[in-house]
Amino acid sequence: MIYFIGAGPGDVELITVKGQKILKKADVVIYAGSLVNPDLLKYCKTGTRIFNSAQMTLEEVLEVIKSSDSENKTVVRLHTGDPCLYGAIREQMDELDKMNLKYESIPGVSSFCAAASSLNLEYTLPDVSQTVIISRLQGRTSVPEKESLRSLASHNATLVLFLSSGMTEKVREELLQSGIKGQTPAAIVYKASWKEEKKVICTVETLSKAAQENNISKTALIIIGEVVSKTNYSRSRLYAPDFSTEFRKAK
Ligand code: SAH
Repeated sequence: MIYFIGAGPGDVELITVKGQKILKKADVVIYAGSLVNPDLLKYCKTGTRIFNSAQMTLEEVLEVIKSSDSENKTVVRLHTGDPCLYGAIREQMDELDKMNLKYESIPGVSSFCAAASSLNLEYTLPDVSQTVIISRLQGRTSVPEKESLRSLASHNATLVLFLSSGMTEKVREELLQSGIKGQTPAAIVYKASWKEEKKVICTVETLSKAAQENNISKTALIIIGEVVSKTNYSRSRLYAPDFSTEFRKAK
């Protein structure tokens, strides 16, 4: 069997119980070495064959999966965070489908959740923002024009940017051109949940300065929006005394 498993954001205790169980019995593990914490491999039994996909092409990854599966091995493809975000899993799954190979996906804790956790943030504060936009600046992978940061930012929703911390000046420019104010709260979280984690609160205007001063240019998330400052929100209706729910009568 082949398993796509979310490794979580870094802390080895943030893989799911289910993911860890499968990792423990895996015969072959192909892990995304650029971001997955190698300490997770300590969960593997002795003799597990380990491959680092950071040094492999898609074809090479597929070859390892295919040959291991043909020997009835349990194969784990270990991706950082949750594999559904920027995980390049579709292209692997499509090829496995063509070969008629069965696979299963186990979710993981995405880094955008770990970043919120390290800042004690709620991305969806009543009367501030009820929407989280996850996106990135264009790098070698292009971003469709209709999803330009400038247009996404004009919604004033909470924004979480992956893969963009090496381009903070461009992020700032795009945000300001969208009409967002320079004073809008922002945060940069580097290696959320790792020992080396760094977190910086700044504003849209000071994004670049904050990244430079803290030596952050990769493995970080940029969070933009009023939720970062945690002020001026309304209480939830769910826990309001005068509000009845299916489970509780209003007082
Ligand atoms: N699937 C992953 C994202 C992979 S894309 C997830 O769900 O988190 C790689 C990008 O994710 C990095 O460039 C960085 O922007 C972000 N990232 C991954 N792990 C991170 C972490 N622990 N802290 C902050 N950002 C992280």
